[in-house]
Amino acid sequence: MRRLRNGLVVVALIGLGSGACRGRAPRTPSSLLLVTVDTLRADRVGAYGSTQGLTPALDQLAASGWLFEHAVSSVPLTLPSHATILSGLDPLHHGVRNNGTYLFPANRETLATRLKASGYATGAFVAAVVLDGRYGLNRGFDVYDDRIARASEGRSVLESERPCGTVVAGARAWIQSQAGPFFAWVHIYEPHAPYAPPPDLAALHPGRPYDAEVAAADRCLGELVAAARAARPEHLVTAVTSDHGEGLGDHGESTHGLFVYQSTLDVPMVISGTGVTAAKRTKDLARSADLAPTVLALLGVPGLGGVDGRDLTAGGGAGESYAESDYPTGFGWAPLRSWRLGDLKLIEAPKVELYDLTQDPGEKRNLAGAEPRDVERLRGVLHAALKSEIRPSARRVSGETEERLRSLGYVAGGAAPAGPGTNALDPKSALPLLRDFERAMESEASGNLKASALILASLVTRDPANLTFRRSLASALRRSSRGGEAVQVLREAEKTAPKDASVLHDLALALGEQGELVQAIEFEDRVIAVDPGFVDAFSHLATLQAVRGDLVKARDAADRAIALDPNNAQAWSNRGNIARGQNQAQEAERSYRRAVELSPDLVDAVNGLGVLAVERGDLDEAARRFEHVLEIARGFDEARLNLAVVESQRGRLDRAIELAAETNRVARDPALRAKAAAFLRDIRGAAR
Ligand SMILES: [Zn+2]
Repeated sequence: MRRLRNGLVVVALIGLGSGACRGRAPRTPSSLLLVTVDTLRADRVGAYGSTQGLTPALDQLAASGWLFEHAVSSVPLTLPSHATILSGLDPLHHGVRNNGTYLFPANRETLATRLKASGYATGAFVAAVVLDGRYGLNRGFDVYDDRIARASEGRSVLESERPCGTVVAGARAWIQSQAGPFFAWVHIYEPHAPYAPPPDLAALHPGRPYDAEVAAADRCLGELVAAARAARPEHLVTAVTSDHGEGLGDHGESTHGLFVYQSTLDVPMVISGTGVTAAKRTKDLARSADLAPTVLALLGVPGLGGVDGRDLTAGGGAGESYAESDYPTGFGWAPLRSWRLGDLKLIEAPKVELYDLTQDPGEKRNLAGAEPRDVERLRGVLHAALKSEIRPSARRVSGETEERLRSLGYVAGGAAPAGPGTNALDPKSALPLLRDFERAMESEASGNLKASALILASLVTRDPANLTFRRSLASALRRSSRGGEAVQVLREAEKTAPKDASVLHDLALALGEQGELVQAIEFEDRVIAVDPGFVDAFSHLATLQAVRGDLVKARDAADRAIALDPNNAQAWSNRGNIARGQNQAQEAERSYRRAVELSPDLVDAVNGLGVLAVERGDLDEAARRFEHVLEIARGFDEARLNLAVVESQRGRLDRAIELAAETNRVARDPALRAKAAAFLRDIRGAAR
């Protein structure tokens, strides 16, 4: 009841507020710049005590503003933690519990929806696919720039992130074009693994790639803050925080997500600008959820109401905080839940942990055995909090997304999280398995599929119930042309999990590659029966039906894939191929162009545009398109033969012969080699 009444009051205030302001002396609303530097450990920041000089821009911001010495994230995962930063809700109450699989609820407010309703222009500029607009954080933003190139064949690594220079350039242009108050959220991804710092910073911090990435992020932050200040010399509030830290070997964890120790929960939090006292430092516990209520108070905009976060301008923090990780459940291991009360911190796991963070900030001495009463006390508070958990709205992670998350080091959660107290493996005990899994992923990333498959096979033996291990093994086998073995591995997995859509879909893919079209279609139908929102199942079905020659069914499946994921370049490209097969040139052209807009280097679509150009006699454009394809993917044999045909039509016979001969020599597909040979005979005949 109370929440409802608060809601009504808030609505009334907004209505009155804008009218009343016009009548009275005008108060210029401050603009808001929120920067989230992904994976930034607090202890790497100068203002938090680091002496390495990695963060001059953030240090300067802290000197001119308000720094929270004990700022904590409630979840060491990018999407859930950003959902908390933007909404003031803990994961229990926004329901986004992992990357890739959950949707932010459509009925909850965020900084964006609230500021938009208060007359702000709103723009978001995100650097990683983990924060793609499809997960629901885009609501309330006029502009949600998540344009990160999608999958393109011919590239060994999918683009999953983009450099902060690109993100900041977009944000800067948008900020400079704003006349009224704005809210810009800029997400910088540099400190997240895999670490690939710019050469100058790598040289400055040799052997410390994470630190060099922190310096790279700070350099972008400095440029961005300078641009925002130039655009709004007055009336600007800037808030900088991170979504989580990084293990860097603490507790055996190299990255983040498996554990909820402070290495991955302590984050910087700094607010500076209009209405903020300079050089202020607060020792109270400040949670990610407190950020939104606090900045709204500074902006003079009505609070969100009914959220976990508190307005820290009112003084005093909550003094306690919740934290969790569901990341282990992606492997079938136990989730972690934690409650911190003052100095004491409880981690609820199959083997419970209790730490005194003042005496033991490194969380090295587990007091759970010695202090059973404290365990029970904190457990009581934690379990009471867990009772208020909302039912999350989950979504199916696409194979492309799954692969891109994997390239960032994540496994997307598939299974429903097991509750605390089930007999799933404790993440602490699972650590050796995770480390071997990470080794397998590293081998895979460096192209050593054989080594990867060996490690994964041993993991399947050691943890037979683990579907992630089995699916990863099958994936490595498929990519090493051992598709038959992959089918066997997946059939074993299907026995234990006959309703797991991901397993069924993998099986369909493996069978399709083996030429078992009918069986593959049967499995995709089963996938769709289990999960009607599974985009990849529709995309694959489109391809399978097209190969079988049923273009009507193929087109239907492609359309459904696009309806589910309109930003999926590959799906648009598939649709283009099918429309071309149906002799609908305009429809094909439109689909390919959309695909190329979303992913300029998607060779399949660029090649399609080349073919359409040939068909309408525009040989110059056709040649340009095919050359583009070959620049991106030397091994795209079809494009090379296409280019040979175009060159012969343009009268460049020598070049045509050269290209066709190369195709005849190197093409993997015997049918294509035969076509190239026939073309060579014709053209040589004509040349004589
Ligand atoms: Zn993150």
